Amino acid sequence: MPDPQSIRQSAIKRFRSIFSNFIRGGFLKYHKDLKKDSALRVKDKLQNEFDKRLTALSAVREFQNSDAIEKMLRSFSGWATSITPETKEQADVHRAIKIIFSSMKQAANDQRDTLRDQGHKLENALSGVVAKEFGALAGVWHSRWREEGYKFRAAHKQLDEKIFLFSNTWATKHGMVKPGVDGWAHDHDAPGMLPNCKCSFRYIYSLKDLPEDMLTVRGKQALAAESIMV
Ligand SMILES: [Zn+2]
Repeated sequence: MPDPQSIRQSAIKRFRSIFSNFIRGGFLKYHKDLKKDSALRVKDKLQNEFDKRLTALSAVREFQNSDAIEKMLRSFSGWATSITPETKEQADVHRAIKIIFSSMKQAANDQRDTLRDQGHKLENALSGVVAKEFGALAGVWHSRWREEGYKFRAAHKQLDEKIFLFSNTWATKHGMVKPGVDGWAHDHDAPGMLPNCKCSFRYIYSLKDLPEDMLTVRGKQALAAESIMV
């Protein structure tokens, strides 16, 4: 079992690598309409978000408890393996210890899951910053329910591939778009926000990529004018 210090260090390292992969092109997975250097152009904003998340990571409660958990685990494992049950009572005690031991081990694993979850949340937060900076109009919900072993939320599987409109964008301000059958993004928790949620948005930036029922008359006119110009 790794010691708490090394878990902490590897978490920070993981955070840094998520960040650098993201700005070097990883973001294109969520923002296919942007250019390879787009994230670099808003690097300061992304750096701010990263710093905030790194601070938050250190504050995760389970994370803080890791010292205590690891310490107890070490003393338990030494004791549990040093006794051999001879009587029924001793066997019961031994079994009880084993149950406690495994539940503590689970707690340590959960802690690693928490860190993994925080990594995903970091990536989603960075992606949200890019979307805001470049004026994304809508988000297509992506659920990873097909992934083996992933405990997805049934409600989020239902949202998979649905298109949600963002408020306060240039297109809403000019009355060019309206929510379609799937409605507004702000009517749902953001993807990836709930614990262990691996959902994310793929962002839409132009009117032509929106379904027709999300365009107003003015939006359709703007689109038609755009296609004449091209
Ligand atoms: Zn989800």
